Amino acid sequence: MPDISGILSQFGSILQFLVACIGAYLFALWIAMIVWTFRDARSRSRDIFTQVLSVALVVAFNLPGLLLYMILRPRETLAEKYERELAGEAMLQDIEERQVCPVCHHKIAPDFLVCPNCHTKLHKKCDHCGRVLNLKWGVCPYCGEAQGTPVAGRTITTPPPPPPARLPQRQPTTLPSPETPKAIPPTAQAAEGQ
Ligand SMILES: [Zn+2]
Ligand SMILES: [Zn+2]
Repeated sequence: MPDISGILSQFGSILQFLVACIGAYLFALWIAMIVWTFRDARSRSRDIFTQVLSVALVVAFNLPGLLLYMILRPRETLAEKYERELAGEAMLQDIEERQVCPVCHHKIAPDFLVCPNCHTKLHKKCDHCGRVLNLKWGVCPYCGEAQGTPVAGRTITTPPPPPPARLPQRQPTTLPSPETPKAIPPTAQAAEGQ
């Protein structure tokens, strides 16, 4: 007859071992979740407070904390955000490089001096070598010649405002005032005749 107490103690030790295994597994899982959350929070936010709060959430609440963090975390990582911004900038540059008149959006060639549609000044010619230059450039990149006064940040050349027009001096006119009658009314003539 087998020793019951021996079996029981054996079973107990096996159970203990299993519990210890599960405990260790859960502990490792907990640590892994904390590490993962820390890394994920760091990749999504530069804010130290947010990172600490995220990790604290998982440390305190374990799996529910992790779920909560996954719900509340920023939608995109910093790398994704950077990529998105980069793509946006590239698109913007692409639009800028598509050659159109900045005023009327008429299609223009890159070497046009003036918009053929609205006559906006688009480029200037180098004083020395005659190549087409950006209006803002103060020096010709082809021949190194300094250019005249650069038009800072403007593509439209506005003529200088005309001097204020002088109002013509009003001459004292000797026009007959409307009150003075030009001719004697016929009624008065009739009265005089009688
Ligand atoms: Zn134009
Ligand atoms: Zn030049």
